[in-house]
This record gives sequence, C-alpha cells and structure tokens, in this order.
Amino acid sequence: MPSKVTKHLFITGGVVSSLGKGLTAAAIALLLKRRGYRVKLQKLDPYVNVDPGTMSPYEHGEVYVTDDGAETDLDLGHYERYADVVCSQASNYTTGRIYQTVIERERRGDYLGKTVQVIPHITDEIQNAIRSLDGDDVDIVITEIGGTVGDIESLPFLEAIRQYRQEIGIRNGLFVHLTLVPYLKAARELKTKPSQQSVGILRGIGIIPDILICRCEEPLEPEHFRKLSLFCNVKQELIIQEIDVENTIYEVPLMLAQEELDTYILELLGLHVREIQLDDWEDLIRRVTAPKSKRVEIAVVGKYTSLRDAYKSIYEALDHGGIANDVELVVRPIEAEKIEKQGAAKLLAGVDAILVPGGFGDRGVEGKILATQHARENGIPFLGICLGMQCAVIEFARNVCGHGGANSMEFDKATKAPVIHLMEEQKKILNMGGTMRLGSWPCTLAKGSKSTATYGRSAIDERHRHRYEFNNDYRAEFEEAGMVISGTSPNGDLVEMIELKDHPWFVACQFHPEFKSRPLNAHPLFRDLVAAAAGLPTPLLQDQTQKGHAHAQ
Ligand code: GLN
Repeated sequence: MPSKVTKHLFITGGVVSSLGKGLTAAAIALLLKRRGYRVKLQKLDPYVNVDPGTMSPYEHGEVYVTDDGAETDLDLGHYERYADVVCSQASNYTTGRIYQTVIERERRGDYLGKTVQVIPHITDEIQNAIRSLDGDDVDIVITEIGGTVGDIESLPFLEAIRQYRQEIGIRNGLFVHLTLVPYLKAARELKTKPSQQSVGILRGIGIIPDILICRCEEPLEPEHFRKLSLFCNVKQELIIQEIDVENTIYEVPLMLAQEELDTYILELLGLHVREIQLDDWEDLIRRVTAPKSKRVEIAVVGKYTSLRDAYKSIYEALDHGGIANDVELVVRPIEAEKIEKQGAAKLLAGVDAILVPGGFGDRGVEGKILATQHARENGIPFLGICLGMQCAVIEFARNVCGHGGANSMEFDKATKAPVIHLMEEQKKILNMGGTMRLGSWPCTLAKGSKSTATYGRSAIDERHRHRYEFNNDYRAEFEEAGMVISGTSPNGDLVEMIELKDHPWFVACQFHPEFKSRPLNAHPLFRDLVAAAAGLPTPLLQDQTQKGHAHAQ
C-alpha cells in the first residue's frame, strides 16, 4: 500500500499587505480540524532577518515564542490560538534562515564544486522547509507566504511552491490567493481590477490559483464573480468573499464556513467532507458581542502601546479572560512614559486591574514601576509579565524593603541593589539572535499560593524569552517583607513567579502566559486576573471543570 500523502495548501496574498492572510490561514485550519483532519501550519517570510527575534516590535509587531523556543512571526499566534495546533521551529522560515542553511552547506563543501544558485539551491531548500512538516501525524499542511505577490523578495518562495505542487500533483496541493476588492467611494463601486492584475502576476510565475478569496467591505455582486472568474481563470464557486466582520475577528471562521470554503478545499484535495460542529465557537462570539455581565477595564502599561500588534497575544489573552468570565472587557493601553510625567493616579484612575507586559530597554521602565506601586498600594488586581515581574520586584525592593536605588542590571549596571541581574549562562553570550532563555521550561508552584489555586496544580510548563532574572541574594529578605515566591524552576534555583501576601490579587511571572491562552480555553492567569478585576471569585475553577481538562500543558 502506498504511504499516506500529506496534502498541501499554499496561501499567497495580493494587492496590499495587511489583508489578514495569517488570520485566514488560521481560520481555514480551524475549519479543517473541526472536519476531523490533522493540520499543521507554517509561514514563509521573505525578509532577510534569520528570525524576527532581533526586530523592534515597531517593525514587526510582537515576537511569538513557541514551546521549542523559536522566536517567530505573530501570525503563528493566530495559528496556535485558532486552530489550537502546536507550532515549532519548522513553522516559520525566512529568506535569511534559508540562505544561512545553504551558505553553511556551501562552506562545508556539500555542493561538490557546483555553482550555488537561487534556482535550484535556494528553491530546493525552501521546499525542504515545506516538506519538513510532512509526516504520519498530519493530513494537511497549510503554508502561508508572507509579503505580497509582485515583491522581488517573494519570487524564490513562489517559484518553490510552484515546483512543489508540480511534484505532488493538483489533487495533493492547492493554491489559495487572497486579494483585496476595494470599494471606491467616488465611483460607488467595488473594483476587481487589482485582483485581476495580482492573479496576472502569479500566472506569469506559473501559478494559477485554485481558490480566490476576496477581502471586501461590501458583498460581491454576480457581475464581480463573473468578471473575476473570467479574468483570473478561477471557477465562480471557488471565488470566496471574505467581507469585513462586524464585531469580532472570531467571526471570520464562521463566515468562511458559511461560504463553504472548507468544503471546496476538501473536495479539491479529494478528501471526505465530514460533519462540522461549531456550536462552541458560536457561543464564543455571543460572549464577545453580548457578554452577560458588566464592563471591566484593564490598563496595559507598556512602551509599544501605539502599535496594537506589539502586544497582540496580551490583548488576545485578555479577551479570552473576558470570554471565560462572560464579562465585557475593555483594554486601556497606557504609554508608560506618560505615567512618569503625569502620575499613576491620574492615568490609572478607575481601572479595575493593571497589567505590565514584557519589554526590553529602559525607556518607560520607571512609569511601569510607578504603575506597579499604584496597584500594590491600592489593592488593584495586578499581573506582571516578564519585565512586568522584574518591575514588581524592583518596586518592592525600593518601596517596601527600603533599597532606594534598587534596579535591574539591564538598566543600571552600577546599582547598589541589583535585585534583577543577568542569568549566569547569559554572561558569556555575545550574539543577540536566538540566545535568550527561550521556549518552554517547567516550573513548580508553591503549596497554598494563589498561583497553585489559579492553575489548579503545582507542576506547570510555560514559555520564556528573557536574559535577566530575580537575584536570589534578596529572596529571604523579600519573603520576610511579604513577598511570596510562588513559582520556581524544579530545582528551586530560578524564581519564576511571585505574589504578595497582603493584596487581593497581585501575581507576576517571569514567563509569558499569553502565548498559551486560547479563545475557548483562557489561560488561568488571564482568566483569574479578569475575574479579580470583575470582583468575581478567584480562582474561577468552574471553567476548568466545565471543560473537563486543565489548561494546555
Ligand atoms: N528585558 C528583560 C530580560 O531580558 C525582560 C524580557 C521580557 O520582558 N521579555 O530579562
């Protein structure tokens, strides 16, 4: 019997960037999973950085971290959240990473004297990256090509997927092209020409899309389907409209299901179309659009607040917390530097909880510390994440333990009280890329702590991305003064979580819980932060028992 073939779906984008390719890919994955297929996702990014880990969040939005420690594009967050798939190092390749492999191989002499060229060597390496997800544990691999068709830097990727599909055959590989059909106000019309031209570029490369997904503000009329079909060579029923959703992005999968996109994909791939169940997803939309109880406002005090994508997973995880508690959740993003100028009391007035997220560099740190002090002194529920935990430690050292100049050595190398210092194994590291403490690490929670109650267990695994850590020289002193060391590495060496004894809900962690939160399974820390903000009991355990399982390991 021939071994099982893995089916492939390639998603490209045309006309403009920011069309929501990642979200569309993730929504398709969700639908295919709900039809009973095992799906993996991958993004190929044409930029030259080896990974986005060294890029500023202003350039690239958040860096999403996988269990196996890959620093990746934020679209992988969509993949994991929507489709509840596990992403890995193999889920994100860039031009830089592909070239790095080819150049290393060339230096080793692996090409046996040949001239190394974009075609076939680079395109072969791209195909290896695609093939690396094949296996007995997957039915369909979805590969999203970053960037926009027509970009010079996308060309090797498009050539590689053209070759790949040629090799596996049309029943095993599909091209899905996502374009924009803009509405021109002056003409009061939807315009199909940009999509026609984008498909024209693809055709010049040898790719004819099997399915065209059209992002549009208004529904397409029959004449638009006719025109697009004629000029793009795509059957009318395979032109799918993805109209802007009204309330929440969680509506995207349902809308695509209504357009029967998943059915067409499965039919084209020769796969059986099984029943689909989306009741829970519909309930989720109800909870987002018409929550049962009151409005809760949570401040996110950060440095990149002007760019929503910079804290993508944080905002999404907060939404999940709102969904779990069935409350209306409003986020108030606050620029940390503003707190330094205008004071915490003014800018944080009226918020029900405060979250200080991760970050790098000293800009805005003093503002974050002031926000932390405000939460501690006023009994406002608080969650500190990574740098947020470090700020909580600095604040406690300064204002509770009397270490006036306490700081992290990241910000003040000469501080008299280095309560946060460089991790031992980081001291010898010179390269910036991929060298932090990354990925999933186990953590043991302390008996009787809020953290244990929140998680409902004492052994957890969470994802990390940091160089600095809690300085153990201060541990005993801080514990004496009312800080609870509520989570440590299993050998007890690294402080991973802290909380405060005399506070309703003040919890901070060195890891990033936001990466493991899911719309239908909120991360316990976000769930209970929102519960505490809403004045609901914490831990909000009924959510876990309802689902019959604890949060993803
Ligand atoms: N800059 C801090 C460190 O490297 C915190 C990192 C973060 O918040 N992700 O330890």
